Amino acid sequence: MNMYNNSSIKTIDIYEETHLPKEGWLQGCFRCRNITSLKINMRKVKRRGRTYKFDVYACKDCRQDFKKDRTKYRTFKIMCHNYISSEYYYLIR
Ligand SMILES: [Zn+2]
Repeated sequence: MNMYNNSSIKTIDIYEETHLPKEGWLQGCFRCRNITSLKINMRKVKRRGRTYKFDVYACKDCRQDFKKDRTKYRTFKIMCHNYISSEYYYLIR
């Protein structure tokens, strides 16, 4: 019998590398590298009884851009999804 803990969720944070520690709340916006604590849940994947949540850092300025212009958000989303698919292909298949 397989025992899965279905409530186990692993969050994967996606951001641009900065001088900040990887464990911190603040990271570089994935679009412009501004330091921010704001994240957007971009994707959820279920694999082997585990849920993987992909959270992408997106700063206030970029969010404002997205609000004003939905095509900018669409472009950002595509960029994130491409990144997730190539970096975490072993979770996506
Ligand atoms: Zn930004």
